[in-house]
Amino acid sequence: MVSMTQVKIKLDGGAVYKRVGRLRGCLVIKANNGIFMPLQSLTSRPSASRSFQQSRVMPGLDKDDNYWMRRALTLAERAASQDEVPVGAVVVRDGKEIGTGFNSPISGCDPTAHAEICALRDAAARVGNYRLTGATLYVTLEPCTMCVGAIVHSRISRVVYGACEPKSGAVESTRRTLDEPHLNWQVEAVGGILQEDCGRVLSEFFSRRRAEIRQRRQQGSGKE
Ligand SMILES: [Zn+2]
Repeated sequence: MVSMTQVKIKLDGGAVYKRVGRLRGCLVIKANNGIFMPLQSLTSRPSASRSFQQSRVMPGLDKDDNYWMRRALTLAERAASQDEVPVGAVVVRDGKEIGTGFNSPISGCDPTAHAEICALRDAAARVGNYRLTGATLYVTLEPCTMCVGAIVHSRISRVVYGACEPKSGAVESTRRTLDEPHLNWQVEAVGGILQEDCGRVLSEFFSRRRAEIRQRRQQGSGKE
């Protein structure tokens, strides 16, 4: 446990009172939903140019997080093998895998077929309950707004992700959806688990795809 102290923090626009503590040598604040975040996140906004690799949501680590994120990575590879953006997800409860999914909107002709949605559907069908209270969703990339909504609807208790998604991530990158006060369900969020591996799978996929497009263009111009 982290011991927290209420302190007054001066910002450009005035001052706020926040609970501040120390976690693994870093000063952290506790957000309304219980996430520990670096103190600097109060005073700086995320940069749009961040790479996939960097998360600022402080890990409240579970000893099995790395194991399950590796499992999610194997599902991301399955997406890549089908020419889909490689994102994988797994739902775990009481140490057991209860649902899996990988990104498949193109092959499934389904704009909602993100890895998280597929894993939540699989888990709900397998356990016979649309509520997944007590379960953890592991996903290799920071969830988007749609998936955060589905996570809340499913009553997932904890979401653990790998790399940040600077363009559409809705946990910390473009907005903090889980912090919104109207939500009637609190989800613990942890970012940055195996973030380099998760980011590398995506970067390699996109550079491979760019190379293929370049090659096709060159072949096309050679015919003319
Ligand atoms: Zn999504």
